[in-house]
Amino acid sequence: MSEQWIYLNGEFVEKHDAKISVYDHGFLYGDGVFEGIRVYDGNVFRLKEHLDRLYDSAKSIMLVIPHTKEEMTDLVIKTLQRNKLRSAYIRLVISRGVGNLGLDPSSCAKPQIVIIAEELALFPKELYDSGLEIITVATRRNRPDVLSPKVKSLNYLNNVLVKIEASLAGVSEALMLNDQGYVAEGSADNVFIIKGKKILTPPGYIGALEGITRNAIMEIATELGYTVKEEPFTRHDVYVADEVFLTGTAAEVIAVVKVDGRVIGNGVPGKETQQLLEAFRHRVIEDGEKVYKEDQEIEVS
Ligand code: PMP
Repeated sequence: MSEQWIYLNGEFVEKHDAKISVYDHGFLYGDGVFEGIRVYDGNVFRLKEHLDRLYDSAKSIMLVIPHTKEEMTDLVIKTLQRNKLRSAYIRLVISRGVGNLGLDPSSCAKPQIVIIAEELALFPKELYDSGLEIITVATRRNRPDVLSPKVKSLNYLNNVLVKIEASLAGVSEALMLNDQGYVAEGSADNVFIIKGKKILTPPGYIGALEGITRNAIMEIATELGYTVKEEPFTRHDVYVADEVFLTGTAAEVIAVVKVDGRVIGNGVPGKETQQLLEAFRHRVIEDGEKVYKEDQEIEVS
């Protein structure tokens, strides 16, 4: 396998040399922010939105990223080119940096910046054909007034616990409810339900991250003539929906066919979900403005 290059604080280092101090506050306290981004055949899908979310998350936790968004765009593109990747998953991590053992981040001199690009291990194709069986779990989504779900921070312990609960139950994904019992989202994806021509997804204040795939699907569904609404719903609404699907950078659009033992619709991925997935896959290739030309072209949308 060819070498993988990681962008780490101003230089490219080989994967086995990409190391961070144990005094980094991202490691010690989850003090930092991150993004997961995807490039489709040279088109970095909605990089601007991902960077806006990253910089907003950083601002919210008072972490100053020592690069402009234009510089960061350039670094993302360089990481792809260095790794000769046209289709990949990109992980951008900004941690508070190396400090002392205390919680106070004022001991951290500068943030650490990491960009990893690697080939994406998709959910297996069979799961797109068969749909997912999922459950709802006991782990609740953080309350928005405790840690805003809009901040994509390195504090993902809840999400990790969701994954543990899901695997213990023998399923690959699960839904979190918020503290009032409304459905919030999956461990790393947003949830949608379809009833008739109406498509619903939980609003941000319920505890959902405002996913970039979620936003793209809301746009596409509206264009296709659906009524799309951000509206709170409960597990009952999920159980009786015609179709249920999850969205995320890694998962794209994936149908859910069973929730807590209740079969959704006919128990196979529904037509509307498949139509949305198809439209989404076209959109990720069509969208985009070319910003870089060399031996590889990289587009940013
Ligand atoms: N919710 C959570 C908690 C996530 O981590 C993600 C992945 N970023 C999503 C939803 C989906 O968001 P996006 O479509 O921007 O990947």
